[in-house]
Amino acid sequence: MPPTISLIVQALEPSATLAMAAKARELKAKGKTIYDFSVGEPDFNTPVHICEAARAAMMAGHTHYTAASGIAELKAAIAEQYKQRHGLEYSPQQVIVSNGAKHSLHNVFTVLCDPGDEVIIPSPYWVSYAELVKLTGAKPVIVETEESNDFKLTPAQLRAAVTSKTKILLICSPSNPTGSMYTPEELGALADVAIEKNLLVMADEIYERLVYGNHRFASFATVRPGLVDRTIIINGVSKAYAMTGWRIGWTLSPVNVAKAMDSLQSQETSNPSSVSQYAALAALEGPQQCVEDMLTQFARRREFVRRRIAELPGISCPEMGGAFYAFINIKAHLGRTYGGVQIDSSRDWCLQLLDQQGVATVMGSAFGAEGYARISFATSLETLAAGFDRIEAFLKGAV
Ligand code: PMP
Ligand code: GLU
Repeated sequence: MPPTISLIVQALEPSATLAMAAKARELKAKGKTIYDFSVGEPDFNTPVHICEAARAAMMAGHTHYTAASGIAELKAAIAEQYKQRHGLEYSPQQVIVSNGAKHSLHNVFTVLCDPGDEVIIPSPYWVSYAELVKLTGAKPVIVETEESNDFKLTPAQLRAAVTSKTKILLICSPSNPTGSMYTPEELGALADVAIEKNLLVMADEIYERLVYGNHRFASFATVRPGLVDRTIIINGVSKAYAMTGWRIGWTLSPVNVAKAMDSLQSQETSNPSSVSQYAALAALEGPQQCVEDMLTQFARRREFVRRRIAELPGISCPEMGGAFYAFINIKAHLGRTYGGVQIDSSRDWCLQLLDQQGVATVMGSAFGAEGYARISFATSLETLAAGFDRIEAFLKGAV
């Protein structure tokens, strides 16, 4: 008899974004040409000055355990960055550095949620939120947003979803998977409800540096006075500095939440990688031109993707204000037959698109939105051009 897996983990869905990326990699290894628009990770190399700082850290002997919550210099640099960029006053004590922002999310849910507590998550949502909430025994309360409202939660929807058990509202702006962004006014209106209903707000701001056109990013805690006491900010170096593999993310939170995460982390993982912390320090304190240069590339790709999507028959897609995702509405194309295969769900659409045309995307159902597919444009214009030709051929070949 194989060992029995715990009930709580049996109920866990694996990450669909990582699963699609793994599938694409597997096909590539078999020699197939794959246009990979699945995983959301910058295709750029980590900037050289950051890699050099990591090497220098190793050579200087920073290869041992660090404080569980991160090295003092990095925590100070993170607090300083929030002061400079957003005028928010945080002390280094309020900063906890973790093994990627995904780990930060896990820490926050673990220290705040008891079984039965409710966490409001607007859908479409990033794949890991609901699963990480479920791991604590708390309940994800999914509130469906409308494409016609750019997939943004309204204050009325929030008010209707709150119960006596609601503990946290989760907001991701710019959004993974839709790329949509709340304006400061919209965040303010949600903050008013959070204050009235005494909710904590988890603001996942990992895409804050990837914002396009006239869109403006506002850190959630800045939109009303006093929000710092009820906001937990999630951020990290993965997206802005092309550092997904270094695994450094962080939280800024009220002191007691930070202390609880410090204890949790000291038991769970000891500390985030020492070398990666020095690399993240160089990212924050070093020249920022690399972020601007990558943003310029992302902006070009976004323009290209917008143009190509507009040419696809029967597909709609709200404007991408930030991040590097397009969330396309494929509802008009379900129920059709592609290469002899009838397709009725976003899952089958994405799997057949991969199988028949070699284009990897992620099914909307993984983000709680059936009838959609996510395209990550964190890849070269050449790959995007070839992949969009194939998506077009896929759609045109359907009957
Ligand atoms: N939040 C969002 C919205 C994301 O898209 C990601 C990317 N995986 C994360 C958090 C986690 O980032 P990481 O663990 O790579 O720092
Ligand atoms: N955030 C990225 C994505 O959504 C990375 C994959 C993951 O961590 O799930 O594709």
